[in-house]
Amino acid sequence: MKRILLLFTIGIALTSFIQNFARKASASPAQEDPRVARVLEILHAGVQAATEEQIRITEIPAPPFQESARAAYMKTLLSAAGLHVTVDTTGNVIGEFAGSSPEIVMLTAHMDTVFPAGTDVRVKREGGRLLAPGISDNGTGLAALVAMAKAFREAKIKSTKTILFVADVGEEGEGNLRGIRALVDAYKKNLKYVIALDGSATEYVTNAALASRRVEVAIAGPGGHSWSDFGVPNPIHALGRGISRFVAARVPESPRTSFNIGEIEGGTSVNSIPMNAQMKVDLRSESEAELTKLEGILRDSIRAGIDEEMSAARERGMAGSATLLDLKISVLGVRPSGELADDSPLLQALLAADKRLGNRSRMERSSTDANIPLSVGIPAISIGAGGRSGGAHTLEEWFDPTGRELGLHRVALTTLSVAGLEP
Ligand SMILES: [Zn+2]
Repeated sequence: MKRILLLFTIGIALTSFIQNFARKASASPAQEDPRVARVLEILHAGVQAATEEQIRITEIPAPPFQESARAAYMKTLLSAAGLHVTVDTTGNVIGEFAGSSPEIVMLTAHMDTVFPAGTDVRVKREGGRLLAPGISDNGTGLAALVAMAKAFREAKIKSTKTILFVADVGEEGEGNLRGIRALVDAYKKNLKYVIALDGSATEYVTNAALASRRVEVAIAGPGGHSWSDFGVPNPIHALGRGISRFVAARVPESPRTSFNIGEIEGGTSVNSIPMNAQMKVDLRSESEAELTKLEGILRDSIRAGIDEEMSAARERGMAGSATLLDLKISVLGVRPSGELADDSPLLQALLAADKRLGNRSRMERSSTDANIPLSVGIPAISIGAGGRSGGAHTLEEWFDPTGRELGLHRVALTTLSVAGLEP
């Protein structure tokens, strides 16, 4: 999960909001069924087993676009939990827990990590903590998915809606949410709710999607010798001129909007005029309109930087048809925005679960698998699956299973409440 999370509603207004919805939703019959109590007991008894499974899952590398080994293992686990499991052409592992209706609740956890192949993913223990890249994001979500499937089966749950237990691909970075895009596309006719399990924390619920775009800018030129060809337009100089204009852009505080140049490359040696310069830029906003505006500023800034570099070359007598700079701007990824309605039964179910468990959630806007269903009007949330964690997306990532039970119970109550129970 992208940890650039924006706190968007908090305080007294929120407290009364939660209480209102919790009051309305607390009488949900699904939560009073003895089979639900049994699910909670089974999850309680399985806390240690979930931690051990989380370690095994985490130790199978799942770099971006290379999730297949972990997917094969997830398929084994979900099959062993009694589900009918298939793998789609995108690489998503889909375990079906058939209900009496074709309507679907999708419980999904992403398999991919941000770490490249070759990263040491062995889990180390330090006191009560487990340390490994990806241990929480998304070892916690995947372990919870398996624990949930087992508990529902063992407690002989008969749900109204069909529950799909999904381990998906491509949530992180350049994966560009390809897994969830394929899933929403394939199931949208019957898909009623999506619950994404991402990371550990239980004190928030992501109920709004943060829009983002990732853009690559590439400038090419004729190149040359730093001394004898001096004055020829230089792609790195042009890019630098463009960057200095772009980063001076004023973005609104509300709707919050951000930009980051996260990668820059170019050139081959210190005494050569480079033939190319590239950068990757991350643009984010609470508003699609602001995002579009910001992308426009980026494009204009880079073009102005190139014009400036070309006019400098003309002044030095080095501009001509053979010494033009070429610009290519490509959009690498787009994550749409969207919001869950305040009165959605999904949010009510989560808040009722929180009330029952003595938990309190703040609402957050973030960039997760929930972006895609939310962007097409399918109710979705993203929540942590229990325990504590830190250092996501770094080699120092850690997880502490203390409190895991709360997260598992929160997921179970929310899922069963929206799925409904058959007698
Ligand atoms: Zn994640």
